[in-house]
Amino acid sequence: MCSSSNEEQLTDYGGQKRQGDHFWLFEPRTKEEAVLGLTRASQLKLDVTIRGSGHSMNGSSIPQKNGLLLLTTSLNKVVLTSDGKIEAEAGAQLLVVDDYIGQFGLKLPIVNDGGDPAPTVGGFICAGGFGVCSKDYGGFWNHIRSLEYWTPKEGVRCITQETEEFWQICASGKPKGVILSASLMTLGQYTGTRVEATLQFKYVVHPNRIWFTFIAPIRKSASLRRALIRLDRDLRQYWEGLPPYEYMIKSQGRGTPDGFYPEHDGSLAAMGVWGEVTTKTAQNIDAIMERVSAFTNRETYAKRYWQSEL
Ligand SMILES: Cc1cc2nc3c(=O)[nH]c(=O)nc-3n(C[C@H](O)[C@H](O)[C@H](O)COP(=O)(O)OP(=O)(O)OC[C@H]3O[C@@H](n4cnc5c(N)ncnc54)[C@H](O)[C@@H]3O)c2cc1C
Repeated sequence: MCSSSNEEQLTDYGGQKRQGDHFWLFEPRTKEEAVLGLTRASQLKLDVTIRGSGHSMNGSSIPQKNGLLLLTTSLNKVVLTSDGKIEAEAGAQLLVVDDYIGQFGLKLPIVNDGGDPAPTVGGFICAGGFGVCSKDYGGFWNHIRSLEYWTPKEGVRCITQETEEFWQICASGKPKGVILSASLMTLGQYTGTRVEATLQFKYVVHPNRIWFTFIAPIRKSASLRRALIRLDRDLRQYWEGLPPYEYMIKSQGRGTPDGFYPEHDGSLAAMGVWGEVTTKTAQNIDAIMERVSAFTNRETYAKRYWQSEL
C-alpha cells in the first residue's frame, strides 16, 4: 500500500490533480500477472485505476482513496512478426517502440509529438492519438489491427477493428476494461523472422506546460482558428502563452471513434492553445478554466480533446 509521507503526492502531467491518501500499487511484470491481479481485485471489489505514463491531465490516471493503481510501465514486451506487424504490450511507450522497429526499417504511422518518449500504447489508444503524420495517415486508431482486452465479466478477448467495441474503446478516455496489448500496423517492408524484446520504460522530464485542444471537422478550420486566436489573446493575461498549434487528421475512410469526434467520417482539424505552468498560471487556473469552458459552450462544432487535458 502506498501513501504520501510528505508533500510529494501522486499527480498526473498537469500537476493540478493529486492523490495524497492511501492506495494499493500493483505493477505487473507480465500480462498473465496483470490478469491474475485484476481478477483478484474484481473479486475484492476494489476500485481499479490504470496508469501508463500518467501523462494525461484530467486526473483519470490517479487512483481512488483505498483503491488499486495498476501501473503498466513494466508491460513492455514487443513482438515483431514476419509480416512486419508489431504486437506491443500496453505499457510500452510509442516512441520507444518506434525507435526499436526503426532498426528493422519500419516505423509507426502515428506517434506523439514532442520527440521524447511520453504516452504508452495503452494511454495513447485511450486518448485517440494523433501527431504530425496525421495529415497523411489519420488517427492512431486507423493503424491498430486488434487489442487484447480484459474485462471482469469476459476475461481476456481479442477485439478487432471490425467490432463496435473497438470503436468504443479507442478515444474513450477511461475504458471499462484494461488494454493488455495491441497489434499495430507499421510502414516499411520486413521480411525477417519473428523477434521479441523487452523495451525499457524511459522517464523523461518534459517542460511543465498545460494545453487545451479542440477538434472540429476540417470545413470548420477557419472558424476554429479565428476563435482560438481570440482565446489565446484572452488567456495571455493569465499564463505565459505559447503560439497556438494545429494539426490535420486525414480521414482514412474507416470512421472515427465517437469519443474523439462523434458521428463523423471525414477529415478533422485539431487546434489548441497552450502555456507554461508558472506561478502566474497556478494563481489563475480557475480563470483559465472558466474561459476554456465558455469557449467550449460557444464553439459548439468543436469538441475538447478532453481525455488528455485538465
Ligand atoms: C509531453 C506530452 C506529449 C503529448 N503528445 C501528444 C501527441 O502528440 N498527440 C496526442 O494525441 N496526445 C499527446 N499527448 C497526450 C497523451 O497522448 C495522452 O494524455 C495519453 O492518454 C497519455 O498516455 P499515458 O500512457 O500517459 O496514459 P495515462 O495518463 O497514464 O492514462 C490516461 C488514461 O488512459 C487509461 N489507460 C492507460 N493505459 C491503459 C490501459 N492499458 N488499459 C486501459 N486504460 C488505460 C488511464 O486509466 C487513463 O484514463 C501528450 C502528452 C504529453 C504529456
